[in-house]
Amino acid sequence: MKKIILLGAPGSGKGTLAEGLTARYRIPQISTGDILRQNIADGTELGKKAKGYMEKGELVPDALVLDLIADRLAKPDAREGYMLDGFPRTIAQAEALDKTLAESGSKIDLVVYLNTPKDELVRRIAGRRLCEVCGKSYNVNNKEFAPSVDGRCDVCGGKLIQRPDDTEAVAENRIDVYNEQTLPLVEYYRKAGTLTELDGMGPVAEKLDEMGKLIEA
Ligand code: ADP
Ligand code: ZN
Repeated sequence: MKKIILLGAPGSGKGTLAEGLTARYRIPQISTGDILRQNIADGTELGKKAKGYMEKGELVPDALVLDLIADRLAKPDAREGYMLDGFPRTIAQAEALDKTLAESGSKIDLVVYLNTPKDELVRRIAGRRLCEVCGKSYNVNNKEFAPSVDGRCDVCGGKLIQRPDDTEAVAENRIDVYNEQTLPLVEYYRKAGTLTELDGMGPVAEKLDEMGKLIEA
């Protein structure tokens, strides 16, 4: 099993691909965004600290995210490999991850960079809806992912809602923050020799196949 990072802007499809791939390869998907949202829903101290940043589309401070990821990577299911989705997001996070891995004689095997044009990112984010009940994700701007009944979950009939940071204004800010703080990671991992770039456009099934080949290589 491999230690994999999915790198890409908000809306580039990281979450969707990670879901498909972790099901196929039985690798745990580790999404810092999901873990933070769970903490907000549970009303934990971490959740209370993270909420304000997330609502504005800013990054949660490195120290908080690094604590959270250290806990998650220490769980038994992460020993052999995992797919990181939404982490690292800053050079400091990447350096901390490399250091932690090096201490146990390990390293990142593969970084997949999904390169997607900005207008497509905004379109995808603004169209994203989530089932309030079961969490399933839809997209009203994409036929492939639209719900069969407007505003209702196909699986459980739950109401579809928009994530507070998926409004167009906050999405624009998230993309700016990404370009400033996360995009430098492309060079970081290119230099490390672990980076593979994929075109973020095109059908999900095609992306899953392309990524599958990289994982199996
Ligand atoms: P997306 O990739 O669609 O932007 P995520 O669910 O990965 O969404 O992240 C949502 C928000 O959670 C981010 O805008 C940020 O505030 C916070 N977050 C998630 N991961 C990190 C991280 N590694 N470092 C700092 N903040 C993070
Ligand atoms: Zn549902």
